[in-house]
Amino acid sequence: MSNRIPGPICSSKLGSDWIDEGTLCRSQSSAGGPLGMLMSMVMAADPPPLSEDERALQKWRKDNELEKKQSKESLERDTPNHIKKCIAKLAQLSIGPRGAWRSSQERDLILKKLEALNKANMIKWLENIEDGRGGHDRGEITVAVDLHWGNWDEDAWMKSAPVLVHEGTHAVWNDRHFEQYRAKWNREHSNSCKDHPKGEALIAEEMYAWENELKVYEVLVSQGLIDITLAERLKRVSSLETVVREAYSGWISLDGFK
Ligand SMILES: [Zn+2]
Repeated sequence: MSNRIPGPICSSKLGSDWIDEGTLCRSQSSAGGPLGMLMSMVMAADPPPLSEDERALQKWRKDNELEKKQSKESLERDTPNHIKKCIAKLAQLSIGPRGAWRSSQERDLILKKLEALNKANMIKWLENIEDGRGGHDRGEITVAVDLHWGNWDEDAWMKSAPVLVHEGTHAVWNDRHFEQYRAKWNREHSNSCKDHPKGEALIAEEMYAWENELKVYEVLVSQGLIDITLAERLKRVSSLETVVREAYSGWISLDGFK
């Protein structure tokens, strides 16, 4: 995939006051009556010659639009295939306390769910994801498109793999599989659970998803993956609960203060 796509920095540099000569011309010459006639006479006159820079900018804009359109189309076309590759690679990762997966049951549960969602085109790469990495909402999983670029015949799958496991964990969270963990959480946080049952349930779910994501990340680091955000989280793994509580402090107040 080309890395010449300028992305949001260039479009914000151009700004909303940028006027497309083509559009301006069309909308003005469509005015009716004498004014419209006058306008089309004015428009028919030779436009002032463009400077070198202006011509280069116009060409860049045209090429950029085309490139953006093509890359969006190829992204949509290739996504199911790429996710499939990623799931297949994830299935091969190790199991156990220092492995990528806690158990083979849990691996199968999460990967089967991801497979089903992928078949239904419910996993997508998106620009501008609210928390920056991924999301799970009403059965649809989104992954930040920044994690997609790279060579998919080699190692590009690794960048999205931890996020897919994180969001996949959310997608199966209501399965009975996690009841033991939920019960343990409720026991260990019994006071807060009394006052904030919804908030604590969300924190528990998020903790579990973060742990799963980090387990996968730690194994993939040995295969060459670099992810600055996950590396930072891994440094604070012994206080992961504090990190999650800080990141989602608003959730506890969902239950109201007592
Ligand atoms: Zn999450």
